[in-house]
Amino acid sequence: MKLFVSAEDKDIENRVSVTPDIIKKLTLSNQVYVEKDAGNNSGFPNEEYKSSGAMIVSGNEISEADLIFSINPLNKEKLEKIKEKAIIIAALDPFNNIDLIKEMNAKNITSFSLDFIPRTTRAQYMDILSSQASLAGYKAVIEASHILNRALPLMMTTAGTIPAAKVLIIGAGVAGLQAIATAKRLGAIVSAFDVRTSAKEQVESLGAKFIEVDSNEKTDGVYAKEMSDDYKKAQEQKLKEDVLPIQDIVITTAQIPGKKAPIIIKNDMVESMKNGSVIIDLAAKSGGNCELTVSGRSIEKNGVQIVGFENILNLIPFDASRLFAKNIFSFFELLTSKLQDNNDLSTIEDEILKSTLITFNGQIINERLKGIC
Ligand code: NAD
Repeated sequence: MKLFVSAEDKDIENRVSVTPDIIKKLTLSNQVYVEKDAGNNSGFPNEEYKSSGAMIVSGNEISEADLIFSINPLNKEKLEKIKEKAIIIAALDPFNNIDLIKEMNAKNITSFSLDFIPRTTRAQYMDILSSQASLAGYKAVIEASHILNRALPLMMTTAGTIPAAKVLIIGAGVAGLQAIATAKRLGAIVSAFDVRTSAKEQVESLGAKFIEVDSNEKTDGVYAKEMSDDYKKAQEQKLKEDVLPIQDIVITTAQIPGKKAPIIIKNDMVESMKNGSVIIDLAAKSGGNCELTVSGRSIEKNGVQIVGFENILNLIPFDASRLFAKNIFSFFELLTSKLQDNNDLSTIEDEILKSTLITFNGQIINERLKGIC
């Protein structure tokens, strides 16, 4: 197969989908083209790709490719050049890119979206949501610690004692749990909150305090659901009166798959917070967990700094790319092994391929997009 590693739009993305260590594996049985400077912003220069066996090319060679790797959806110019039935593997964010999905379908492109990977044990090696969220959670705490005008750990000095800073994590999924672990390692007093009851044990096992809301409503299972108005009211009261006024850093990561992120910190709740405290909103791109968040910007309100990272992974692109590349390679291995037995993807039974296949043979085939496209 001829494979093509696409360079991302440098204005929005520093990562690259395939790193030189993975090129070595891919070139064992494929010809690999890497678009010039694809890895420049993540710390992987053209020479490293070349010495790993790839051919460095301009964008035009995309037209010869049987399969294209990318992080973000390809732009119109690249889509125009791709040959019919070529395969794209990327994080297509299908719910927010319906027009693009239709366009790929009209061109008879086969596309897989890695952000539709099922959260199963078998799919863990390909789970870009987890690998990237984990780094995001870590980096959010590091960034917050830079912005905060005080230290995180308890320090006893001859000049006096500095108390440990207090960090609150809202949403204890993959990013939240990594944020808890990072803040604990830096010596902060950490508490966390999640609507899923199963999160309590995980939060406590990391040594953080789990914040309980006074309500009988519970969410079990892997994914959160939208909570009732009564629950939201109880949650708001608890956060506003008892929890937020004592925090130095708040990291929010709460998401509901396929929906706008829930607003958890309202304007008046920000007013209850300490001067100099910091909110890092990792849900900014999907609407934000704080009512005041502006995606892609850092703003200040009543002495509270609110940072709405659009893509925090741009600040840690080397490791984010390495993990993404390992995930994408595992997926590629699965796909090619299944294609050997059956190249009619519409009949493929594999759960991972079925969940991620978006367009095939002129059809928008994914169950989750039925009724939307
Ligand atoms: P996510 O990014 O969808 O959401 C982050 C967190 O926000 C979740 O824990 C969610 O419960 C929480 N949340 C949603 N609404 C909230 C609200 N109003 N208030 C407070 N918190 C709220 O989640 P994720 O990180 O992708 O993880 C989702 C689940 O998938 C977790 O249970 C995780 O353990 C599981 N998971 C399983 C696997 C696997 O088995 N392979 C891999 C990764 C994740």
